[in-house]
Amino acid sequence: MTYARFSLLDRREFLTKMGAAGAVATIALNETGSLFATAPAASPISLPPLPYAQNALAPVITENTISFHYGKHHQAYVNNTIKMIAGTELEKAGLEEIVKRTAGRSDQASLFNNAAQVYNHNFFWDSMKPGGGGEPRGKMADKINESFGSYQKFVEAFSSAAASQFGSGWAWLVQEGGKLKVVKTSNAETPLTTSAKPLITIDVWEHAYYLDYQNRRADYIKAFVEKLLNWDFAGKNLV
Ligand code: MN
Repeated sequence: MTYARFSLLDRREFLTKMGAAGAVATIALNETGSLFATAPAASPISLPPLPYAQNALAPVITENTISFHYGKHHQAYVNNTIKMIAGTELEKAGLEEIVKRTAGRSDQASLFNNAAQVYNHNFFWDSMKPGGGGEPRGKMADKINESFGSYQKFVEAFSSAAASQFGSGWAWLVQEGGKLKVVKTSNAETPLTTSAKPLITIDVWEHAYYLDYQNRRADYIKAFVEKLLNWDFAGKNLV
């Protein structure tokens, strides 16, 4: 008996057993016949890099807040989503597809909550930039004036929606039927599942502002609108 023959038999028997067990881990044999586990295939769901440094929004939003909000909360939504789709028909689905296909389904509430929070946070980081805020220019300015009457009226509508969202949630500037409007959503709910196209969002969950502003949500909203709001991103989202 040669070593090679034993090795082949062992390998065949092992792979048969693994197949029968429906093993989750990916097992491979290298050229010398030794066994090693490979990393699972990359999920289409991941934590995207922040579009700026973690301290770039300070002092409006501090590095401390971003480190928890992005590094812990957002990361947890990503991790939970990947775990929940593993081995299901949504394993290879894109994020938006997962959110749309699980929306409104009570048996998929946990996956929806996590996936929609991944989507909402991805959108939120892009909704801000260092040195942002203030009045938009060009086409966005025209759209704001057409839809709200003036920039100031937009600020009132957006700030009021963000301040009045009871408990956790989001306020959004969206485009629907050619017009812009402000909507708010609770918990993980998102306009992505509606006919409205999201343009900008602000996270008003307490984890978004409590370390910096404690109970003063209105101050956080005012600072977001005046100093961070990314009109370039909003403009790119216009249909
Ligand atoms: Mn958040």
